[in-house]
Amino acid sequence: MKLLEASNLHKTYLLGATAVPVLRGVSLEVHAGEFLAILGASGSGKSTLLHLLGGLDEPDVQAAGSWVNFRGLMLRSFSQSQLDDYRARSVGFVFQFYHLLPELNVLQNVCVAAMARWKFGYFSRKGEIEARARELLTEFGLAQRLKHKPVELSGGERQRVAIARALINDPQILLADEPTGNLDRKTGETILDLLIKSRRGERALVMVTHDTEVAKRADRVVRIVDGVISKG
Ligand code: ADP
Ligand code: MG
Repeated sequence: MKLLEASNLHKTYLLGATAVPVLRGVSLEVHAGEFLAILGASGSGKSTLLHLLGGLDEPDVQAAGSWVNFRGLMLRSFSQSQLDDYRARSVGFVFQFYHLLPELNVLQNVCVAAMARWKFGYFSRKGEIEARARELLTEFGLAQRLKHKPVELSGGERQRVAIARALINDPQILLADEPTGNLDRKTGETILDLLIKSRRGERALVMVTHDTEVAKRADRVVRIVDGVISKG
C-alpha cells in the first residue's frame, strides 16, 4: 500500500537575487511498513525533500504536476488545521541534532508533541499520555532519566528521547534526517536498530543519509543526484 507519494517536486531557494534550484523534479513513493533510505551527498537537498514530505515546507508552486499525496490526500489542498494535524500525528520527525527543548526535562520533551496533537484536549488525556511516554522511554532505556534536562544526556540518549517524541502520537511515517550523523559508529548502530524496530505494522521509516553503510540496512534505497532521483 502506498502511504506517501511525491511527484515532480521542485524547490528553489532565493539567495539575494539568485535562484538556486535544489530539487529539480523529485518523484518517489513510500510504501506501508518499509524502510526507505534516501541517499545523497551533503547539500544535495535531502533535508529539503524531507521537509516537503513532512509538510514543514512547500514545493515551488510553478512546477506542473508537482504534489505530495498522503494516503490519497493532497497536502497542498489541506487547510491550516489539517496541515497542523498531518505534521503532528501522521508523521514523526527525528533530526540529526535532536532539536529537544532545553528547558524541558525528558518526559516533558516527549509529552510536548502530544500537546501539539491534542491541543486543549491534552489535559483530559494527560495521565494516559504520560504513562505512554514513560513506557516508551523505559523501553528505550531512559527510565532513570525522566527528570533530566537534555544537556545532562549523551548524544545517543538525546536521540532516544527524540525518537520517543516522534513516536508518542503513533505516526504512520517516521521521517529521520541523518539521525546517526552526530553519533559515533557504535551509538549510531543502536539508534538505527531502535528506528528500525520502531517501524511496526504499517508504519514506514524514511531516512535521509549520506552514509552508504546506514543505507545498507534499508529495504529500498533511492539516490538524489543533481536535484532528481537517480535511477542508477
Ligand atoms: P542536505 O540535507 O542534503 O545536506 P539541504 O536540503 O539542507 O541538503 O540543502 C540543499 C541546498 O539548499 C544547500 O546548498 C543549501 O545551502 C541550500 N539551502 C537549504 N535551505 C536553504 C534556505 N532556507 N535558504 C537558502 N538555501 C538553502
Ligand atoms: Mg541535511
